[in-house]
Amino acid sequence: AALALAHDLEDASERKAHFVLVPLMAQGHTIPMTDMACLLARHGARVSFVTTPLNASRIAGLIDHAAAAGLAIRFVRLRFPAAEFGLPEGCENADMLQSRDLFKNFMDACAALREPLAAYLREQEQPPSCVVSDMSHWWTGDIAREFGVPRLTFNGFCGFASLARYIMVRDNLLEHVEDENELVSFPGFPTPLELTKARCPGSVSVPGLDQIRKKMYEEEMRSSGVVINSFQELEALYIESFEQVTGKKVWTVGPMCLCNQDSNTMAARGNKASMDEAQCLQWLDSMDPGSVIFVSFGSMARTAPQQLVELGLGLESSNRAFIWVIKAGDKFPEVEGWLADGFEERVKDRGLIIRGWAPQVMILWHRSVGGFMTHCGWNSTLEGVCAGVPMITWPHFAEQFVNERLVVDVLKTGVEVGVKGVTQWGHEQEEVTVTKDDVEAAVSRLMDEGEAAEEMRMRAREFGVKARKALVEGGSSYNNINLLIHEMGNRANVST
Ligand code: UDP
Repeated sequence: AALALAHDLEDASERKAHFVLVPLMAQGHTIPMTDMACLLARHGARVSFVTTPLNASRIAGLIDHAAAAGLAIRFVRLRFPAAEFGLPEGCENADMLQSRDLFKNFMDACAALREPLAAYLREQEQPPSCVVSDMSHWWTGDIAREFGVPRLTFNGFCGFASLARYIMVRDNLLEHVEDENELVSFPGFPTPLELTKARCPGSVSVPGLDQIRKKMYEEEMRSSGVVINSFQELEALYIESFEQVTGKKVWTVGPMCLCNQDSNTMAARGNKASMDEAQCLQWLDSMDPGSVIFVSFGSMARTAPQQLVELGLGLESSNRAFIWVIKAGDKFPEVEGWLADGFEERVKDRGLIIRGWAPQVMILWHRSVGGFMTHCGWNSTLEGVCAGVPMITWPHFAEQFVNERLVVDVLKTGVEVGVKGVTQWGHEQEEVTVTKDDVEAAVSRLMDEGEAAEEMRMRAREFGVKARKALVEGGSSYNNINLLIHEMGNRANVST
């Protein structure tokens, strides 16, 4: 019996920590969690990655890669109850919602995954060691409690924006601000931060979302910690302050995108690229180092036809080389007509247009790219930081305006394009908020030979180096991942 016990103990101590990852099915939230799955598995953890059939087909490349590389990641495909919640069959990702009025239906359908997920986990030989779930999946708190394990939240934000959002909710900052253009300041923020009400995260009211937001915050406050896709050397002041005010343990484990090091995983990240990668690389190879501006506004923002034309005209008059991603959702007959009616011909030697899903990381990290015009989604921003390139900031909604302040005021690695107004998520912007001249001016401020631009490029390069150091052996995020796995694994071993 003593021998058997010793054997059992040995088994338990060897048992790998088992992380259950539950991403929000929206590209900007799912993609970093796929990276997280790879990182955790490479550092020795076992991972169950929760997904649905449609979303699994988007990450088919990753699933193949994980199998080929022998990573201990299990992809748990749960049926998504779209029809039961008034969504079209197969509508399994936030970027497929026809209107933001359906967002609540989508969130309710996600919450209905609670019982199927719990049932799946009950059947597994190894119980979870912890649940790491998107902050919007408040219902995963119940699952963690059922198994008696910690729930860690992942919000997809950087430390800077996490802190701003926390203060905003804690102090109910928007409650008494009537005017959308009134400036809101953030008491206790370590450096000055002011945004108009319209530009504050959470200022947009989505039908039926208030109740869900309340549950999200309550469950967040009950969580055992927060996982952040960032690294200490980028924004330590804000990460520490966030940890202090929330009293939560914060694990910075990024930039997680850096786990994509070979061209296959880079190219297949998030979805299948709509353009042949080899062709894209060939085009980039033919350009001078640091000469290309990459223009992309993420997966959710929608750009109005006249705004697309204005952007194209600005790129044309900048006289710089560019890659411009026009999303599937931004395809308009009038824009296609305008592109075909001379524009593409005029810029054919220096402009590449990608229609649909672009292999963003592969492009950004190519040596020919010298600038990134971004909507400031946190993933894109961080991918730009890793690329070591300066940015032109063009925020649309959510916490993108906060990220713009981090890039422009704190990191000093970017210039504003000067967006007027705010684009509402799920609404096409109706007017031109950035003119051709704004685009041209921002491109030249970023790419010109002057001292200010050179200094910005140098700072960006330095952050790129620090980003890479964070994830190699001995780096801050590398150590944090090991500590996280160790801590969760120890709990699991104590409870088995
Ligand atoms: N992305 C991509 N190809 C595209 C558009 C987006 O690979 O054509 C990736 C991008 O690299 C990033 C994510 O999708 O990892 C978008 O996340 P982000 O937080 O930047 O913005 P969101 O889409 O959530 O607004």
